[in-house]
Amino acid sequence: MLSYNEDTGRKAPRVLWKVQKPIMEYSKMHRKPKTKRCSQCKEEKPLNFFGRYYARGKYFLKSWCKRCKRRINRERGWDHWYILRESEYRKRRRRQTSPRIRAHIILMDSRQSDRRHKRKNDMTCDFITSLIMKGCLYCECSPSESKMTLDRIDNTKGHCVKNVVSACLECNLTRGSMPYSAWKVIVPAMKRARNLGLLRGWLKHSKPNIV
Ligand SMILES: [Zn+2]
Ligand SMILES: [Zn+2]
Repeated sequence: MLSYNEDTGRKAPRVLWKVQKPIMEYSKMHRKPKTKRCSQCKEEKPLNFFGRYYARGKYFLKSWCKRCKRRINRERGWDHWYILRESEYRKRRRRQTSPRIRAHIILMDSRQSDRRHKRKNDMTCDFITSLIMKGCLYCECSPSESKMTLDRIDNTKGHCVKNVVSACLECNLTRGSMPYSAWKVIVPAMKRARNLGLLRGWLKHSKPNIV
């Protein structure tokens, strides 16, 4: 409510009524609650079931629990990539770069290209997974360092079990369609470049596998 001084016509200062807080026990006052009630599902849940947000130099807990938030995102179509939280991103990335799924993608791609060029392909998903897990045959990097691919020794033949070795994306791109005998000469140099860390940051989109 606004009140005005009749003489000056100015706004009168607001009177602040000080309400005395009920005196609490010291221990009770400083004890933090261990659970919180979700305003959506109305359940008491531990604090780590709630997301946090930062405002005015402090962290606050959200009033919706994580499960309710996820359900509502799904129902209302809010789960676009830009609304996803960091943990959700990490989960998706892990799914994309798991060796098993990487092997499946390699298998599908190789089958498609072999069908197009009428070549033979007798690989299985398990075979590719076991090959990928060993790391690059040429520069000897591990699958957690670079994206794994398959390199065909004889480029005129298809992806056969005896014709493929595991190679990192850097090695595979460097070789290209080079003859295997020429590539053998370059492999030690490639290994040296890898060990010196010179290949780091070359291919920014070569996401390593999480093993
Ligand atoms: Zn809830
Ligand atoms: Zn390599």
